Amino acid sequence: MRKSFKTLMFHGVADDMSEHCVFMPSRNCFVRTDDFEKAIDYCSSRFKILRPGDLDAYFDGTASDDGIFITVDDGLQYFFDHALPVLKKYNAPATVFITSDWTNEGIEPAIFALEYHLYSKLPAKLVVKKNELHFERQVTGKSGINAVLNELWNELFNRKISANSIRANEISLNGVPMNELTDEGNPGYWKPASWETIRAAHLSGIIDIGGHGKTHTPFSWLRADELEQEMAENKKEIQTHLNTEAVVCTFPHGMYDEKTLAVVGKHFAYGFTNRVVPAAVETRTCLSRYNVPFQRPNSIPSLLSYPFAGKILRKAGAVSGWY
Ligand SMILES: [Zn+2]
Repeated sequence: MRKSFKTLMFHGVADDMSEHCVFMPSRNCFVRTDDFEKAIDYCSSRFKILRPGDLDAYFDGTASDDGIFITVDDGLQYFFDHALPVLKKYNAPATVFITSDWTNEGIEPAIFALEYHLYSKLPAKLVVKKNELHFERQVTGKSGINAVLNELWNELFNRKISANSIRANEISLNGVPMNELTDEGNPGYWKPASWETIRAAHLSGIIDIGGHGKTHTPFSWLRADELEQEMAENKKEIQTHLNTEAVVCTFPHGMYDEKTLAVVGKHFAYGFTNRVVPAAVETRTCLSRYNVPFQRPNSIPSLLSYPFAGKILRKAGAVSGWY
């Protein structure tokens, strides 16, 4: 029978998360270290763990084992600190997808740091001004943070403002610009790893590198010429800093359209979205991924809607959750 592979998607790995982390879409991108190890243990004992160079065999029909491709978006410090030792222990390769501007800037994007500062300043008047957006809300307690951040992210998507483009001085809390607030005490879950850290991991032989855009702007928002630049400059930065060619990419926020896929095909052999694309319409430049949401018992319904990932996680005993 023809062999197949599935792709798992991770972002960060942490031993635990601070109590300020109540914004679910962000929290759902983190996996506890021991759950990560259970998943890697399970996968590596049953499947071939793939590198980008192994993917061709699944498309030309010569693959001899079912495979798992472990993908990690954004190149976060928390991933390298907590997941890399696990991957080394199991000799399981993973591919990390780098947004080069994020790595170059070396700081947690303001949109993510906001959650910590908002929690620390309650009750807080939050104001975000960016281009034509003027978002203003009063947040009285911890329970309001998730709803307000959901509203803010929705506003950003509706107006096609890239979340990563928001600067700290465009956000204020109780009248104080966020860039004037101390970051001391903020665990910085979305802080990028340095090029040095990524290079050392890559040189260790266990980490492959892919592209994730220059700026993290959703590909479907960009014109074809902007897309060319977004991908070409991302690849160039990766080549310069890591001396490797990125041949696979993942789409920021998983977003794409027909035009995107044509440009992806010019720069990369394989492209991955963030969700499950029906097998019948999957192509090399538009492949499915399964997010791995271990954090809460109530993530089980979403696991069940992704039967493959759910099966892995249940068998790995890794659905116990943060709580
Ligand atoms: Zn991303």
